[in-house]
Amino acid sequence: MYYVSTRDRLQKTTVSGAIAYGLAPDGGLYTPEAVPSLAGNALHTLAAMNYQQRAVYLMNMFLDGFSASELHGFCSKAYGGGKFDDPAVAPVRRVDGNTYALELWHGPTCAFKDLALQMLPHLLTASLRKEGEGKTACILVATSGDTGKGALEGFKDVPGTRILVFYPKDGVSAVQELQMTTQEGSNVGVCAVVGNFDDAQSGVKAIFSDPALKEELAGRGYFLSSANSINWGRVLPQIVYYISAYCDLMKAGAIQKGDKVNVCVPTGNFGNILACYYAKKMGLPVGRLICASNANNVLTDFLTTGVYDRNRPFYNTTSPSMDILVSSNLERLLHDFTSGDAAQVKGWMEELGRTGRYEVSDGVKRQLGRHFSAGFCDDESAKAAIGRTWREKGYLMDPHTAVAMKVLEDYRAQTGDDTAALVASTASPFKFGPVVLSALGAEPVTGLESFEALSKLTGVPTPAPLAALAGKQVRFEQVVGKDRMTDAVRGMLG
Ligand SMILES: *Cc1c(COP(=O)(O)O)cnc(C)c1O
Repeated sequence: MYYVSTRDRLQKTTVSGAIAYGLAPDGGLYTPEAVPSLAGNALHTLAAMNYQQRAVYLMNMFLDGFSASELHGFCSKAYGGGKFDDPAVAPVRRVDGNTYALELWHGPTCAFKDLALQMLPHLLTASLRKEGEGKTACILVATSGDTGKGALEGFKDVPGTRILVFYPKDGVSAVQELQMTTQEGSNVGVCAVVGNFDDAQSGVKAIFSDPALKEELAGRGYFLSSANSINWGRVLPQIVYYISAYCDLMKAGAIQKGDKVNVCVPTGNFGNILACYYAKKMGLPVGRLICASNANNVLTDFLTTGVYDRNRPFYNTTSPSMDILVSSNLERLLHDFTSGDAAQVKGWMEELGRTGRYEVSDGVKRQLGRHFSAGFCDDESAKAAIGRTWREKGYLMDPHTAVAMKVLEDYRAQTGDDTAALVASTASPFKFGPVVLSALGAEPVTGLESFEALSKLTGVPTPAPLAALAGKQVRFEQVVGKDRMTDAVRGMLG
């Protein structure tokens, strides 16, 4: 199976090429030429397996040139060894009658990015080997919080890699900062940048396009790479948990094989919900894909009108990982809905770059309507949903998950469609303690103290990786101006 660029079908590569190099040379996203189908008995076969075995079975369908035993090794490193605090890795919990939470936050950083970022380093290093790349991959990340910590935990002590993370000094929460500055591992580096997230991100972009630095690093045996969410190696592991959740619902007798399940996903860069679309395309009986946004509702408008327009105010919300105006992974959906019409997709992406707006064809609008529903909710309604769901159903949610829960409620009220639904639960409520506490009517407490306050109030234990922060040593204290980031890279590489 080949992977093609969304902007030029002739730009083809193998899956290892797609993962090793991330973005196609023309700026497009590598996407499978054809999506494989689940065999007739696959769901029954998968239902009898544990999470790691399911991941091997499913990823193997996309990974030509990788052996099953190789994948077994990756899956036990990524999902075994006690890295996830639940043996199901991505457990499904019943919230009420026919609403289920797919909990994606049982990994080392307590957010859903762990499911992909624990796997990516293994896929990446193997892909580099298969591509004949002998140098050490130096992963550079600019982060507004969750991705940086997720990447640090994923790449920590993975042979053949270094990982360097830049975060904005005043742009992350106290807990997020402590999660990063106490990071363990012999191949990691963390550095604060004076300024906001854009400063850190444009600094990293400048490093990537600095030919002199590239040459210098090559001489020292390094090449620069990214752990960006547009890498196919991050989308692929996410397909697994949707199929796994369906199998768990079958096993629990909540559904029969073949029953449709709606899926509601709190969405930012469109990576998580795209993975569910691929699962559906493989043959998973998914009904509506419900895309939930916060006040940054560019996707709600796009999915309901076919017009993508980023020319609008940007809001900092209580669900910061969804504060995004350009959802990069959407390009892969457009590729699929135009049957791979690269010229059309390229045209829209160029228009987006030029004017911030594009309108898709009627054919694409029909396809959007066939699969997707969309809604959004503001911070107040999300907070109210956290309080209500806790009081009435005894289920504690973080603000991202709350956006999806509220959008699902609205969807059901508007359509009367009461099909069983999975809500992607993307972060532990403890990661957003102050917001959750205030949603429950308690005094908001900040920093590490919020863990105990939330735990006392609800009786829910603090996840171990967060509780452990209190005893951790700060290892990284460097702060640099945004024009000194290149030097920081040199320094961290020693
Ligand atoms: C990244 C993130 C999201 C958004 O996921 P996308 O794949 O970017 O759509 C939602 N919730 C949380 C907690 C996240 O960290």
